[in-house]
Amino acid sequence: KALLTVRELTAAAEDKMILHGVDLAVGSGETHVLMGPNGAGKSTLGHVIMGDPVYSVLSGSVVFDGSDVTDLPSDKRSRAGLFLSFQAPVEIPGVPLSSFLRAAIAGRPGLEMRGKQFRSRVRELAAELDMDVSYLNRDLGVGFSGGEKKKVEMMQLLLLKPKLAILDETDSGLDVDALGVVSRGIDAYRRATDGSLLIITHNTRILEQLSVDAVHVMVDGRVVREDDASLISWIDEHGFESFERTARESD
Ligand code: ADP
Ligand code: MG
Ligand code: MG
Repeated sequence: KALLTVRELTAAAEDKMILHGVDLAVGSGETHVLMGPNGAGKSTLGHVIMGDPVYSVLSGSVVFDGSDVTDLPSDKRSRAGLFLSFQAPVEIPGVPLSSFLRAAIAGRPGLEMRGKQFRSRVRELAAELDMDVSYLNRDLGVGFSGGEKKKVEMMQLLLLKPKLAILDETDSGLDVDALGVVSRGIDAYRRATDGSLLIITHNTRILEQLSVDAVHVMVDGRVVREDDASLISWIDEHGFESFERTARESD
């Protein structure tokens, strides 16, 4: 059964058409990968699924967990169980990480925790992610290294336990240690939930330890190819050129 169904989605930012009819479905508990050349619209799709008001949906629909969420604001989508990690996580001076995490789960059914419970859960996660607990008192993101920001993202993911986590190049520009953090985070999410994953990545290394159910290739604002995990190594070898050529010819 599909948890997420994106149907004939077209979307624009300002006056620029970016998504030209995207079809994509992710089943419950499945791990999907979204690949494609730079500028294909992968991040836009992630943001549109999440309800980012920067983008306007011109036609098509996003159905999540049985409800049409196409016109829902992003906070409602988040409460419904959608999660998007950002390519460039925010920095908020004056807000300690622990307060930010606390606010992220506040008022969420099933996630209510007393202060003590929250602190011990966060410490547990910090240990799991190999994160120094002193970071919890530091201002969000400010002066955090790339790897530390990833740990924060993974901590959010593990606290919120969304039904669908979209990870947008959460691995880009990371050193080997930080990549390990992302892998560990994904692995912990996999073990702690029966949620689904949509991983947007160029880095096929982090996919090696995962059991990938489907791969979607996006070119010029459309999904032009879908296949099983074997497509990943094919793309590793051949790149996106043949998909881009086919997309150009069909225009
Ligand atoms: P990808 O993630 O596949 O690299 P993006 O979704 O980031 O692609 O971008 C797809 C295209 O849409 C690019 O040409 C990009 O410049 C454009 N785009 C994305 N977001 C905006 C925006 N907020 N305003 C204007 N153009 C945008
Ligand atoms: Mg890009
Ligand atoms: Mg992108």
